[in-house]
Amino acid sequence: MKTILRILVFMSALSISAQSTYLHCGKLIDTKSGKVLSEKTIVVSGKKIISVENGYVTPNNAEDITIDLKSKTVMPGLIDMHVHIEGETNPKSYLEDYTLNDADIAFNSVKYAKVTLMSGFTTVRDLGGSGVNVALRNAINAGKIEGPRIFTAEKALATTGGHADPTNGAKKSIMGNPGPKEGVVNGVEDAKKAVRQRYKNGADLIKITATGGVLSVAKSGQNPQFTVEEIKAICDTAKDYGFHVAAHAHGDEGMQRAILGGVKTIEHGTLMSAETMELMKKHNVYLVPTITAGKFVSEKAQIDGYYPEIIVPKALDIGPKIQKMFGRAYKAGVGIAFGTDAAVFYHGDNGKEFGYMVEAGMPAMETIQSATTTNAMLLKLDDAIGQIKSGYIADIIAVNENPITSISTMENVTFVMKEGVIYKK
Ligand SMILES: [Zn+2]
Repeated sequence: MKTILRILVFMSALSISAQSTYLHCGKLIDTKSGKVLSEKTIVVSGKKIISVENGYVTPNNAEDITIDLKSKTVMPGLIDMHVHIEGETNPKSYLEDYTLNDADIAFNSVKYAKVTLMSGFTTVRDLGGSGVNVALRNAINAGKIEGPRIFTAEKALATTGGHADPTNGAKKSIMGNPGPKEGVVNGVEDAKKAVRQRYKNGADLIKITATGGVLSVAKSGQNPQFTVEEIKAICDTAKDYGFHVAAHAHGDEGMQRAILGGVKTIEHGTLMSAETMELMKKHNVYLVPTITAGKFVSEKAQIDGYYPEIIVPKALDIGPKIQKMFGRAYKAGVGIAFGTDAAVFYHGDNGKEFGYMVEAGMPAMETIQSATTTNAMLLKLDDAIGQIKSGYIADIIAVNENPITSISTMENVTFVMKEGVIYKK
């Protein structure tokens, strides 16, 4: 009896591993060479891409599946380097800081994770939330819920009153005194402690708020909020754990300190000077543009009561400047890592960023490479994701039009496969 059972288990394992999916691709974007190829077949087995063949290849085995994407443009799953998957903009979001429990946040985040995956983003960097993002990542990795592969900063680090201080805007009696455990850092020792706490809590990387920000209940959207020594302590400690550091920054001074302190990416970069652009290139630091978020906040700030009053002038000032700065940074040769700040606008609208990047002067193919090969490299996964190539993870998406001539098609992803599993067809 035992032997029969063993043979049965063996046979079913064999048939699972033998089944392949053949994707017939009318157009296929080779993100490595930057070329659009025609009439290719991607063969997927299990979680991996087995081969990419010329023409439309018919499978040999009866149990193999063929997917017709002959009218589509196929490319690797997209990577967004800046989302906050726990929450989403709404006029009551400031009250929610005081009303939602982790369980409420968790249920909401399940919805946002799915929407993100369905819009073609198979990998994201979550740049800060309450810590629910760690459990969300684990649940997705375990196959319990559907969502993108998440690399999370857990809770972003700030200084007291800084952009990610969790009790900004609260009345004094409930402000408390958040410290490194809660992600608030003052001084070099706090900095080390806060990074080690993130490691303990299950983070994959570190996020700092190097300057003021638009949506925190605080006056300045751009003042520097860390010393170089504090940032250096964060980056040095992060290295011990294999973490890279992402820095939110709108103001130029805080950006320079972050670059000199050793961060890997600058988020937003709104008021970046020509001098700082040179510094970015010298230190091989990448800009994550988040143009979509900038446009969204400047639009919503015109609706009375959508944001608290203190935020409105910041949103109107900073929001519209991001796209122009991005155009200058791209022309100056700064490395661009695709990222949107989804949550500041609606999850699933991440694809709008491509059009805004093209509008500012970046060629369409380069925007797609930024969201695939560049981001895979920054995540140290360039041997596994970001390309459609044999041996790579089968993260594959498709759009109806050729994005090189019609970039808005990136807002409407019609086919999604992640790790060989089809989620949208
Ligand atoms: Zn953000």
